[in-house]
Amino acid sequence: MKEPKAIKEVPSVITNVNVMTGKETHEPMSWKVLPPSGDKCQVCAWVHEPQEPHNAQTVYYQLLFYSMVGRPPTWADALAHCDEKMKVTWERLLKDAGNWSEPPDGEKPVAHHGVG
Ligand SMILES: [Zn+2]
Repeated sequence: MKEPKAIKEVPSVITNVNVMTGKETHEPMSWKVLPPSGDKCQVCAWVHEPQEPHNAQTVYYQLLFYSMVGRPPTWADALAHCDEKMKVTWERLLKDAGNWSEPPDGEKPVAHHGVG
């Protein structure tokens, strides 16, 4: 069987703790991620049209977003690439359902986190 090829690399940091001293050291590292299958959105690994919101709840989107941005994605991030009409519609639906979330402390939503 042919090995799938990892095409995405996500920067991260590994923390080592010296068990004797408790001192932490931090080293840069990266981990490789398999991309979603071709029929799925390459940003969130969900099936949707490009103009529609990403699915803020997929593990793929959450992990890669967190790695690149340093905080979990919110629905405001997932909608940030959409046009105004789409944003307004989805924000209302998500708020009505009690599921709306947005970045903390007035941070701007991130439309493209460098993956996909
Ligand atoms: Zn998506």
